[in-house]
Order: sequence, then C-alpha cells, then structure tokens
Amino acid sequence: MTGDANEGFRALRMVKDDAGIRAEMQTLPLSALPDADTLVEVQYSSLNYKDGLAVAGKPGVLRGYPMTPGIDLVGRVISCESGQWQPGDAVILTGWGIGERTDGGYAQRARVRSEWLVPLPADTTPQWAMSVGTAGFTAMLAVMALEDHGVTPDGGEVLVTGAAGGVGSTAVALLAAAGFTVTASTGRAAEADYLRSLGAANVIGREDLPALKRPLEKERWAGVIDSVGGATLAGAIASTRTHGAVAACGLAGGSDLPTSVFPFILRGITLAGIDSVTCPMPRRRAAWERLARDLPAAKLQDVTQIHPLSDVPALAQQILAGQVRGRVVVEVGEG
Ligand code: NDP
Repeated sequence: MTGDANEGFRALRMVKDDAGIRAEMQTLPLSALPDADTLVEVQYSSLNYKDGLAVAGKPGVLRGYPMTPGIDLVGRVISCESGQWQPGDAVILTGWGIGERTDGGYAQRARVRSEWLVPLPADTTPQWAMSVGTAGFTAMLAVMALEDHGVTPDGGEVLVTGAAGGVGSTAVALLAAAGFTVTASTGRAAEADYLRSLGAANVIGREDLPALKRPLEKERWAGVIDSVGGATLAGAIASTRTHGAVAACGLAGGSDLPTSVFPFILRGITLAGIDSVTCPMPRRRAAWERLARDLPAAKLQDVTQIHPLSDVPALAQQILAGQVRGRVVVEVGEG
C-alpha cells in the first residue's frame, strides 16, 4: 500500500471516441487521478442501478470521458493532506459525485475529498460496507425519513416497491429489523420466498399499484419506500393512509408522477424525497451506524453476490434489465 507516483493501478474506464462509448480495463499511473486531498487504496466497490447506466454508456450519469465509474467505494487511506484521516484508516465513500463527475470506485486507487469519507463502523468489514453501498444507505435514509414523519411499527403495513432490487431488498430487511409489517411489491414472482426470508409479511405483484388510477384509493399503507416512480409511485400515494408518508427514492419504472394534490391536501400525506448523494455528514454517519447495528453481515449474506471488476460490464446490462437480485459487491483490490 504505497502512494508511489510511478505505481500503476487497474481501473475500469469508460472511454468515448469515434467508435462510441465503451468500457475498458486499463492500467493507469497515479497522475491520472483527479486532484483531491486524500489517496485511497480501494478494496471493494458495488453495482447500483446508476452504475449500470454509466457502464452501459447511457447518457445522464457520467459528466465527461474518460471516466472511472463506481458511485461507491471502501478501502484504506494511503495519504491525507488535510490531516482528517491517518494512513491505514478504513473508510467508506458513497455518492458526492464519484463515478459521475469525478473518478469513482471501479479502480484500485481513488483520490477524493477527505470530507466525503465516513469511517467504516466498528465490527464491520469492507465487504459488508459494499453489500450495503449506496442502495442500502438510501434504504436506511428512507426508513429514517418515514420515522421522522411519524410512521411507527404499530401504524400498519409499510409498502416497499422494486422489492427484489438493491434499495428494495435492503429496505425490506431494515424495516423488518425495526419491527414494521412489510409488504413487498415485485415483478418477479419467483423472488417471493426470497423476500419473505428478508422479512416481508406479504408479497404483491408489480401490476397491482399502477392499477390504482384514482387520486384517492382505498387506504392501506402507513408508509411507502418506492424505488420505481411513475404509475407505481402514483398508485402507492393514492393508497397511503391519512397522515402516512411516502419516501421517493428512484425511477426504475419511470420518472413521471401521474398524481394530483388530493392525497396531500385531503389525507395529509407527506412525500419525502431521498437524495443519498449529497446527504449531509451528521445524518450520513448516523445512517451508517444504524446500518451496522440493524443490518449485520449475516442478514446481508443472502442478498449479496460478489464479482470481480471484469464482470461489471455484463452485470450492468443485467441490472438495467431488472435481472439482478439484491446487491452486487465488486472486488477491486489487488489479488
Ligand atoms: P435495482 O435494479 O437493483 O432495483 C430496481 C428494482 O425496481 C428492480 O429490481 C425491479 O424490482 C424494479 N423495476 C425495475 N424495472 C421496473 C419497471 N420497469 N417497472 C417496475 N419496477 C421495475 O436498482 P437499485 O435498487 O440500485 O436502484 C433503484 C432505483 O433507485 C433506481 O432508479 C436508482 O437510480 C434509484 N436510486 C436512488 C438513490 C437516491 O439517492 N435517491 C440512490 C440509489 C438508487 P422487482 O424485480 O422486485 O420488481
């Protein structure tokens, strides 16, 4: 583990030329890294939906080329000019624009800003951290948002949409750990047993929510964690109980929101937006501490698959096709 400027490191790079946009494994010098105060030896990254978009060359995620994608990383500090971290410190970084505006976690080295890092919680492992990753961190923020808005385990069912995905799977596990009665909505009937094993009490079909087309439907959910958007989110809002709360996390099914003001002004429903990328540091640290407490490695084992960096291009296609179950940890470190 050195900061030798001549040292080469492996990276999955997205490049753009006359032939188009593609992913390439490259060996780079440290001088290729962006300017920032902290050099990190990356051990693991993860695969999120956003990484799938970036690696598949879809527009809207990477702000320039060449670029190293990977919105998550965990590793050890090699050097830190600000003095906030010591060499050898185990750190996690999710969001803040890595793998989007600046080079991310699909490389054995990253140079990042010291204020973006959180410590790896005590009694956890780097692999655990990436099994959580942005998806699990987002799920934790969503659970905290529901609680902030008064949703409690004795208030009734909480709905999770896109439940077999990364945000959804961890949301189901976190809600169950906190004592909520969870209903999981999935398009993959074959994953019903998996979702029950994570703690879902009920499993419903993906088509059930878009079928709720009126602005006010029969009240059912005390709270909702949605990673699908579109008609699914609209149906979830329409069937949320008076004074319930809905956390909007994603758009796997669409970015539109065909609803009306009625659920908000006639039922007092709160729509809470979740943005994991710029989540402020105190809440970020609190979320990671709670993840360490409520989602230990044993609970994440069945949710997680581990792959080498070279598998990421194929996995990117799979996550965009909705075929990835739970979380993918990407092994980046030397080996
Ligand atoms: P995944 O692909 O792992 O999960 C998405 C799930 O959504 C799928 O597994 C599937 O669940 C469901 N889904 C996929 N396509 C459709 C469709 N067309 N209609 C209905 N449901 C569909 O992705 P992630 O969990 O990593 O991310 C989920 C969403 O959350 C993404 O839009 C992502 O960009 C967003 N996100 C937002 C963050 C934030 O900070 N706000 C942070 C992280 C993610 P099933 O098979 O169970 O039906």
